[in-house]
Amino acid sequence: MLSGPMGASSLVVDPDGGDAKDADEANHLTSKVPIEEERKSSPVPDEDQEDEEESDDSRHGGGHRKSDAGTSHPGFSADWSADASPRAHIFVPVTGSGRWKCVACRMVIPAGETNNLKEDELCRETFREGIRKYRENKSVDHHWVKRTNLKGKCKGCGKSFQGKLAFGSSKEVVGESCSWCKYSYHMKDQCQKDKSQDDFCCLGVHKSVIVPSTWILKVPRKGSFKSSLKNSPSKNRRRKAEASSPTAEEGLRPFCIKPIPDHKISPLLVFLNPKSGGNQGAKLMQKFQWLLNPRQVFDLTQGGPQPAIDMFRKVPNIKLLACGGDGTVGWLLSVLDKYQIDPLPAVGVLPLGTGNDLSRSLGWGGGYIDEPISKIISGLQMAEEEMMDRWQLKVTRNEYQSSDTRGKDALPLNVVNNYFSMGVDAHIALEFHEAREANPQKFSSRIRNKIYYGQAGGKDLLLRKWKDLSNDIEVICDGEDFTPKLRELRVHSVLFANIPSFGSGTHPWDPAKGTQQINDGRIEVIGLTTYQLPMLQGGLHGSCITQCRSAVIRTTKTISMQVDGEASRLNPATIELSFLNQVKMLTRRKGQGKSRITYADPDVALEITVSRILMRDYAAYHQDKDKLKDMSKPVGKIKTNSKADLSEVRDLIKKVLENNPGPNQQSFVQDWCFIDAVTAIRFFRIDRAQEGFHYLIDICDDSVVYLVLNDDEDSQLTAEEPLVIDSPIVAEAPPKPVLEEQENEIVSNHSESEKRDVFLEVNSNLPCPRNGQEPPRNTLSPKTQMPKSASPEPSPTIQQVLEKTTEGILKAARLGDLKMLRELHQEGYSLLSIDETGKTALHYGARFGNKEVVKYLIAQAPPSILDLVDNEKGQTALHKAASYKRRTISCMLVAAGASLLIKDNAELTPRQLAALAEDNELASYLESQEEFQREKAEGLVDGNSGDFETPV
Ligand SMILES: [Zn+2]
Ligand SMILES: [Zn+2]
Ligand SMILES: [Zn+2]
Repeated sequence: MLSGPMGASSLVVDPDGGDAKDADEANHLTSKVPIEEERKSSPVPDEDQEDEEESDDSRHGGGHRKSDAGTSHPGFSADWSADASPRAHIFVPVTGSGRWKCVACRMVIPAGETNNLKEDELCRETFREGIRKYRENKSVDHHWVKRTNLKGKCKGCGKSFQGKLAFGSSKEVVGESCSWCKYSYHMKDQCQKDKSQDDFCCLGVHKSVIVPSTWILKVPRKGSFKSSLKNSPSKNRRRKAEASSPTAEEGLRPFCIKPIPDHKISPLLVFLNPKSGGNQGAKLMQKFQWLLNPRQVFDLTQGGPQPAIDMFRKVPNIKLLACGGDGTVGWLLSVLDKYQIDPLPAVGVLPLGTGNDLSRSLGWGGGYIDEPISKIISGLQMAEEEMMDRWQLKVTRNEYQSSDTRGKDALPLNVVNNYFSMGVDAHIALEFHEAREANPQKFSSRIRNKIYYGQAGGKDLLLRKWKDLSNDIEVICDGEDFTPKLRELRVHSVLFANIPSFGSGTHPWDPAKGTQQINDGRIEVIGLTTYQLPMLQGGLHGSCITQCRSAVIRTTKTISMQVDGEASRLNPATIELSFLNQVKMLTRRKGQGKSRITYADPDVALEITVSRILMRDYAAYHQDKDKLKDMSKPVGKIKTNSKADLSEVRDLIKKVLENNPGPNQQSFVQDWCFIDAVTAIRFFRIDRAQEGFHYLIDICDDSVVYLVLNDDEDSQLTAEEPLVIDSPIVAEAPPKPVLEEQENEIVSNHSESEKRDVFLEVNSNLPCPRNGQEPPRNTLSPKTQMPKSASPEPSPTIQQVLEKTTEGILKAARLGDLKMLRELHQEGYSLLSIDETGKTALHYGARFGNKEVVKYLIAQAPPSILDLVDNEKGQTALHKAASYKRRTISCMLVAAGASLLIKDNAELTPRQLAALAEDNELASYLESQEEFQREKAEGLVDGNSGDFETPV
């Protein structure tokens, strides 16, 4: 399925090839979910006993998978058939051990013995059988299981379970814990005595979202006697088939939910596809089954969301959690549309895979990494609810216009949650999808996808194909005809965006042109050119057309379109876009659930030590905080304030890292993520897309912030995929196979030798108001760093008058110090300042890969800066960008109108320099653009120069 607007990001979400490996590695890291810190001080339930039995893969237990075959079923989810037994385990095979582990209680039982269990070996009771039992007993009993490995502390004596055995291979029972509430007791007499007085189960920290077993009733079918607990497999299978047949009426359903009203309980129903995100889905499913009632965790491959929603639809205050990509969320919402549930259930998102724009827009991040699931559940318990608009599309075929043989008369989806678009972005997504369908083996990995993507775009000369889009469509928004405007902008794509995030986290709508809200009944209309598409990756916006409540689009040709990432070619038609309804979504907001900071706190200055951890150490010792702290290396300090969030301090930390490279000097600056060192008993990484939601002081331990540096080529465990370029232009992050052939100096955007040069070159008496380690102002956020056309900018004439030159401008550009650059500019220094080599700030920004600087200069400096040549080599900034393989920057410069035709003193164009640097993708991109520019210069391409490349 395609879910990225421009394709590539989502194209790779499919559960094959490269993803699976990544996910497996990630899973390795997530295999332990410890308890949360706030519970550490009191007797606490232990959330995770996984290592108890799972860590011993080396144990020999006959390990033949033969025994798995008969009994395993795909989702390993609860049995909802008429034969279900309330205390049946949900076994999954423990790979290679010949044993089975229950996901609900984590008991491990040899394969042959799963059918002959004694009373005290049965699982926790997940439902009640018959009305009588339901009335009799309204409380849940503990389900004690003896454990060989327990974390946390005994509820009886308050002492820790941990001790002598750090890497517990012992079979010695250290205590008992309850599979419901997770509270634990030692086996010692006194603790057992305490346990015997602890007579009913409170369901633990997640009780407000757990569906108690007392709510779920299995009722005998009419006319049948209560079935026995054990049945022959063949009978079992038959019954299952009956139960899942679509003709089953409600009255025949063997289960019903009878909630015991309690306003404090809002049960969370979890939906996931165990096959999604490689193996990630299956692992997560098991964690939810352990932490909640396994009967509130649903495998989407077993009949989709409908049976669960049907069963729970009358339960007050239910919340739904969609684990997966945006498509999974859309699926759930479309099923909810069939019911009139009042009040509407709120829907949360746990993003798996990549892309995930809806999840990003709601504050749940770009993709699950290794945050403890218990913490995620707590986050959902506290999440705010926000309504979200949805839109419908009605297509009426225009029979008078001829169609393409490949065209269709309908769109792939008729409801819009994320966006609806037509033109070049949909075309790319579609071509990619088709190429992949035709040749799946060529698309087995994410990397290959990216490479192909770049080439396909270049070859196709998409520009020429889509330059006339605005002649083939008519766009009327709220009755106003915007076609002339689209023609004037010469857009190659028209996007109707319901949510702010698009294409794996880009923001095509400029908030300066009007607030974009997901619940204001308006949809944002944005025009995009082939130039602007890659610019979105650099943080810029498209051409904002309007915000409207309805739209009519008429097409006279077969045009590629996509809805929420599903693309097709639509024959000439009239498309009516109108408001459909609103759904209730759960959103995560800044600082949510954090107790250490209150909004009333004064803004206190802080000095925080930055300490780095290498990815390989993190992978090996992620569960051992103390060990990782010992292995971490302090690399410097930052000064900030108590209200700074992570996105605000990222730049400060980047500078600290630049001065203190890791052992492997490649990629140490960009490829790192923050660690939450305090929320759980292990460290976990923070999704880059969520940095804006965390205050720095909430993740620091003793004024130290820990980072993981991904210095290991193989571990690929970064917080977030580098933004995948989804346009015909190649990705910034060089695909791996290419990267391996490159020289270090060129590969790294910030290799140490470059930086050293900088410091040697810099003349310290230059006017430099800040040393770059200054705390950011409270208002400094990624948004405000973005150059906007609306921002106060001296008019050209004033700029001329105020013009002073300084090498400080050049220094700032070299160092990537946007703040300094902006301040010098505001003080009146010219952005056209040059040094003795004739280089401008743009040369340096491009040379050193400082994207923010380049972005700022493009937006703020006079356009003449683009083609200024230095006097050493006669090169423009684009020459520099091309020879240092700066892909995004090359795209930005080209999009801004930099010439591709200028030859340097060696008679080389930027394309030739890219080819010499062996960056073939970049060279082929530059070639396609060069061709276009040449045609334009020769008047072959109509359109006056410069009217369509200004992105802001
Ligand atoms: Zn069990
Ligand atoms: Zn309990
Ligand atoms: Zn004890």
